[in-house]
This record gives sequence, structure tokens and C-alpha cells, in this order.
Amino acid sequence: MLIGAHVSPAGGLPKAIERGVERGCRAIQIFNQSPRMWRPTLYREEDVAAFRQAMADSPIDAVLIHAVYLLNCASEDPDIRAKSLASLTHSLRAGAAIGAAGVVLHPGSAKTGDVPSAIARAGETIAEALAESDHCELHLENTAGAGGTLGRSFEELAQLLDAAGGGGGGGAERARLGVCLDSCHLFASGYDIRTPADMDAVMRRCRRLLGAGRVRSLHLNDSQTPLGSNRDRHANVGEGELGEGGCAAFLSTPGLQRLPCVLETPGEKRAGPGQGEVQRAMALRERGLAQRKRKAAGTSRRPPRP
Ligand SMILES: [Zn+2]
Ligand SMILES: [Zn+2]
Repeated sequence: MLIGAHVSPAGGLPKAIERGVERGCRAIQIFNQSPRMWRPTLYREEDVAAFRQAMADSPIDAVLIHAVYLLNCASEDPDIRAKSLASLTHSLRAGAAIGAAGVVLHPGSAKTGDVPSAIARAGETIAEALAESDHCELHLENTAGAGGTLGRSFEELAQLLDAAGGGGGGGAERARLGVCLDSCHLFASGYDIRTPADMDAVMRRCRRLLGAGRVRSLHLNDSQTPLGSNRDRHANVGEGELGEGGCAAFLSTPGLQRLPCVLETPGEKRAGPGQGEVQRAMALRERGLAQRKRKAAGTSRRPPRP
């Protein structure tokens, strides 16, 4: 698993790699534009080349782009939908330019409106963004389920994938669609993942509803709020309701070990995840893997033959 952190690209794209290296990351995630503004950031060719070179020279093997929170692909307002489409398309093109593993997107919000039509609108916007861009994957993130946010359950994610990938684009575009699983959002939306057995059961349900290989990236965040609270409040790794045991269970899940996994926690000084926390996540993964190995060895031991 490529464990790392969300970092700022302030001062230029290659700075994001520098910050990732300082924190001991194997993967990073960035916003490709100011999180509070619609205006897209245009990368200059030399910045893209410098970024790619810095990444090649670093231990960082994956970069994710997080689409900004302003986007609502499901909005009833055609103007917001058009802006969301333009921004998402831009992010996918930026992702292709810098060789991102994917653009992570909160699928949208129905606000107070009807959910099935919101899913249909989100699907249409996402399909259009995929059609207007090449190569880069799009990962729909599961949500904590606050308000009308879409993607709170595997059932809803499956509907969104169908709405976005079932259209005329066919196989190629469907193949570019994946899912990003956030540990805090899973827990807040009612999936108990605090033990390896619980996490494995959740993943079986995930595979049954979304198909194999659909989860392409991960967010590791602890949760400040309890199971099923539907509130999105990230806690530092091991310091929330998941605790060290829950984080270890998530990080050691079989089938997710090749994926990038970034922290989006408040951090020790509320400056985002730092080196200590990234190291802690790596250690917790090792702990989880060892625990699973012991368990497997214990259960496979046959009673002695008479
Ligand atoms: Zn997240
Ligand atoms: Zn969140």
C-alpha cells in the first residue's frame, strides 16, 4: 500500500512532491485549483515536466487529484452543473498531464431534492466529463451521508457508477471509473470497520455491489463522530472512534494492498498530516498485517490426528 498525505501545491506543482518527501509519503493528493474558487489553475508545460521529474526522482509512486468541494455534479441549477462539468473536465485533463492515478470526486448532493433524479444528473455530468477528457481515472468517493450527499452506501455508489458509465461511452469510459474509499466516511455512514473481520465483511459487500477491482484509491482518516452519525469530522489517525485497532484493520485489508492511501487529517498542529502521522499509519498497517497473519495461522492449525 502506498501510504501518504494530502499536501499543498502552493508555490508550484513540484513543491507538492517536496512536501510529500518531507513527510515520508509514498503517495500524495493535491487540489488542482483553489478549493474556494471556480477559476481553474492552468499548469504550464515546464511545471508539469518539473513535477514529473521530481516525482520520478522521489519515493512517491502515486499522485491523486482531489476535485474541489464547490463542485456539485448533481445540482438542480444548470449553471452550477455547467461550472462543475468544466471544472471536473479540467481536473481530469490536469490529471492526465501529471500522470495522476485518478481524480477523486465527491459525487454530488441532492440537497433537499429527490435522490434518484440527483443520481441521474450526477451520472450525466460525470459521463460528459469523461467523454471530454482522456486517460485519467475518476474515483467517486464514498461520503459520510450528511444532508443530501450522494454516495453514502455501496448501493448508491453502484447506482452512480451505472448512471455515469452505462451511457453511450461504452467500455472505455466505464473502465476509467473507480471508487475511493474513505475510512472516516465509511464509519460515519454506518459501516463498522473496527476489526479485521468487520472490515472484511464490509469489503465483501462492496465487491458484491460494485464488482471486483472497482476500489482504486483510499483515504485514511479517523472519525471524531460515532458509527452512523452521518457527520464528516476527520480525526487524527488512531485518535478517533476508529482508534489504532480500526485504522490497522482498514490498512491491512487484503485486496487493497496495491492502492494509494492518503491521510486527510487535521494533523498535530492543525496544519494537515505530518511525517509522524504518516509513519504511524505505516506502522499500524504492519501491525494489522501481523495480526491477520497470526489469526490465519491460528485458525488453519489442524487438531492432531488420533
Ligand atoms: Zn476523503
Ligand atoms: Zn471527509
